[in-house]
Amino acid sequence: MQSDVIVVGSGQAGVPLAERLAEAGRRVKLFEPGQLGGTCINVGCTPTKTMVASARAAHVARGAERLGVRVGTVSVDLSAVVDRKNAIVDQWRAGVERRLEGAGDRLKVVGGKARFVGERLIEAGGQRYGAETVILNVGARPRVPKVSGLDEVEWFDSSSVMDVRELPQHLTIMGGGYIGCEFGQMFRRFGAEVTIMQRGLHLLPGEDLEISKAIEDVFRSEGIKLILGAEVVEVADEGGRVNVRCDSGQRTQGSHLLVAVGRVPNTDDLGCERAGIKLDERGFVQVDDGFRTSAEGVYAVGDCTGGPQYTHNAWDDHRILYDILMERRRGGREGRIVPSTVFTDPQVARAGLTERQAKECGIDYEVASMPFGQVARAVELDEKSGVLKVLIDPATERILGAALVGYEAGELLHTLLMLMHSGASARTLVNAQIVHPTLAEGLQTLIMRLDRFSLT
Ligand SMILES: Cc1cc2nc3c(=O)[nH]c(=O)nc-3n(C[C@H](O)[C@H](O)[C@H](O)COP(=O)(O)OP(=O)(O)OC[C@H]3O[C@@H](n4cnc5c(N)ncnc54)[C@H](O)[C@@H]3O)c2cc1C
Repeated sequence: MQSDVIVVGSGQAGVPLAERLAEAGRRVKLFEPGQLGGTCINVGCTPTKTMVASARAAHVARGAERLGVRVGTVSVDLSAVVDRKNAIVDQWRAGVERRLEGAGDRLKVVGGKARFVGERLIEAGGQRYGAETVILNVGARPRVPKVSGLDEVEWFDSSSVMDVRELPQHLTIMGGGYIGCEFGQMFRRFGAEVTIMQRGLHLLPGEDLEISKAIEDVFRSEGIKLILGAEVVEVADEGGRVNVRCDSGQRTQGSHLLVAVGRVPNTDDLGCERAGIKLDERGFVQVDDGFRTSAEGVYAVGDCTGGPQYTHNAWDDHRILYDILMERRRGGREGRIVPSTVFTDPQVARAGLTERQAKECGIDYEVASMPFGQVARAVELDEKSGVLKVLIDPATERILGAALVGYEAGELLHTLLMLMHSGASARTLVNAQIVHPTLAEGLQTLIMRLDRFSLT
């Protein structure tokens, strides 16, 4: 079958694009050398959040006595945790397979790694394929840092660490971004000793200080050792244990090492130079507001474009690009509000500007913050850790940014996100009746901390 559209990669944007374009009558070929569903389903969101849930169950059971409930000794069967994770991943992957099969004859999945051999011409499995439109959705993979000795020791990346069936006695984690934080707390709650070594001065370095500190306090209270402001410069095997040394001279020795220092795009052997597709200095595909690359008829979506690397962002890329290909719009990639949540416990949810960004950009703002423990519902649930913070524009009263650290903050964020999307004044929250007792009441109280919204 000749193709109208080639989609390279079955990630969070590639699958719905392939499916919908086929339904719209285009002849589509989707290339995928790995497992269908890409990072999110196989080695990203789905497996991590499934395992985070197991870790939380252990944590809640250990602390149940505070609520008057006795559960006895808590132990974690890591092999059962991994089996549960695999079963849920299989279930989601089967869903993707069914979706693609359901798209009919116009969509063909080719199980091969694609490489450009010319303009809009790719090669996979020894065969060549061309199409009028090519969409790149090749995603990213864990970055391997240049650290002396790393190629001489065994270490996990974010994928392989989720297949460990025997609990590491002491897991050292290189990297204090969201992936390092989620795994750090997860393995601590499974029962391992955990040390996180972070180059920056704080965990989650993109956040404002009090947000990072809130999560650092929780981690320390759970017995996670943090070595901050310390760049790892050397690792070495010592009698089966992994010695890790930082530029500051600090050292740690764990039984296992997890490297979680960011992700690089899967563009290095894609042959982009043969197709006239420009990459930036870090290898991300350069795209304009309409996901157009420098090559006519070639588009790129998802993590490989270097935008915020989240599943919901890749999915939103698909939504906009579909409309562009259907000639319903020209652009829309830029200027979107991209929310995020770190699935630590408490979660760290964010949308819009941090206070640091507002200051750097000279944007006028008013700010309010309050401890999460002042929300009645949080006290009742015994989930008091965290802090709520919001920035508003004094001229329009619109929300410029919000950072919520608290139990299920990722859910809570969406109340503020919808106000941001609709351009409504934060006053809307003051004037609305909010169910008592809910965590959302805390958002109303937070907004009322601003003088202009205070009832006094
Ligand atoms: C541990 C971890 C946890 C995460 N947790 C979250 C979370 O909680 N929430 C969230 O929003 N995001 C999370 N993410 C990020 C999220 O998984 C990604 O942002 C999302 O999957 C990006 O999707 P994508 O469509 O860009 O590409 P991907 O899902 O990465 O898919 C790209 C696909 O392209 C294929 N491919 C690569 N090269 C070629 C080639 N040459 N030819 C053909 N196919 C190719 C790959 O095999 C892959 O299947 C997490 C990521 C990790 C690693």
